Order: sequence, then C-alpha cells, then structure tokens
Amino acid sequence: MKIVFATNNLNKLKEVQVLIPNHIKLLSLKDIDFFEDIPETQNTIEGNAIQKASYIKENYGFDCFADDTGLEVDALNGEPGVFSARYAGEQRNANDNMDKLLDALKDNPNRNAQFKTVIALQLNNKQYIFTGICKGEITKTRQGEQGFGYDPIFKPKGYQNTFAEMDLSLKNSIGHRGKAVAQLVAFLNS
Ligand code: IMP
Repeated sequence: MKIVFATNNLNKLKEVQVLIPNHIKLLSLKDIDFFEDIPETQNTIEGNAIQKASYIKENYGFDCFADDTGLEVDALNGEPGVFSARYAGEQRNANDNMDKLLDALKDNPNRNAQFKTVIALQLNNKQYIFTGICKGEITKTRQGEQGFGYDPIFKPKGYQNTFAEMDLSLKNSIGHRGKAVAQLVAFLNS
C-alpha cells in the first residue's frame, strides 16, 4: 500500500517511515511530481490539514495524510493559532514571530499556551483526524538554541527547560507532533 505524506520535508518523511508498518510505503510530494504549494486557506488548523490531504486525494487519487501545527496562547484568545507561521508577516520569520508574541504578551502574568498538531488522513475514501497537544507556557525571554519556530520561548508543562533547550528525542516524546504521529502510527498498525 502507498500513502502520500503531503510534505516537502524529507526529514519528517524519514522519521515517520520508520515508525509505520513495512507494507505501507510513504511517498513524498516529490515522488508524485507535485511541486506547487498546496492551498492552505482555511481559518483553523484542522481545516488546513484536511484541505491539504483532500487536495492530494482529489487531484492525484492517492491516499494521503497531511499535518498542520499552531501555537495557541490563552491570553491572546488562541492567537497566533492557524497563523503561527506568518504571525509577523509573509516573510515567515521565526525571530520576527517570537518578537511579536513577546511584545503582545508584555508582562501579562497569564503565559499559558499550547501547541496543537492535527494530522488528517484520507484512507480508502474515509477521513480520520489525529490531534496532538502539548500544554506549556510562554517564557519572558528566549532560552536555548535548538529546534525551530517558537521553541526558544515555549516551556512545556512540568519541565524547567524550553523546547529549544531539549534533545529532539525528549521533545518528540512529550511534544504535539510526536503525539499526533503516535496516534496515526497506532491506527495504521491496527
Ligand atoms: P507547520 O504547520 O508544521 O508548518 O507549523 C506552522 C508554524 O508553527 C511553523 O512555522 C512554526 O513557526 C510553528 N511550529 C510548528 N511546530 C513547531 C514546533 O515544534 N516548535 C516551534 N514552533 C513550531
């Protein structure tokens, strides 16, 4: 069986391929000669994940899954949420995004936030949704050099360090994306 993972990130593809059963072969967008941007025009994280997976199914006929992630900050009514990548503008710059978020929160004592990853799977004409959430708080300054995106200012609940101060294996085991992928893998293995 072949399933497309709607990503251009070959590292993500490799990571997931080793976790799923051998009889399922993952294909990247490159493998199906897809070189455009997939439309992401919905106003929710779920909506974008579903849109991406459905787009590939409808246009290429392959079973497919797609992921979408956002950071939801309580004191900002869930922002930046679905706009996390382009919070500070279309340049999609992580430093600009962190500056904007720290500035929006200023000294607000409510620093609660969560990362949410949604994976939408289109399989045998049915749709399945897997959600991974990691709760935590926004720090007042950047801490750590590892990871990407908002990692330097996100401290998961129960830990003293930000994601950017953690090994990738620890981040994956407690993080939003790892949790969503684990549910997908359990489903495909069942
Ligand atoms: P995407 O849907 O995986 O492309 O994620 C959207 C945006 O959320 C990214 O551009 C990052 O800014 C942010 N983001 C996603 N996952 C993470 C993470 O694990 N750590 C920090 N930021 C993330």
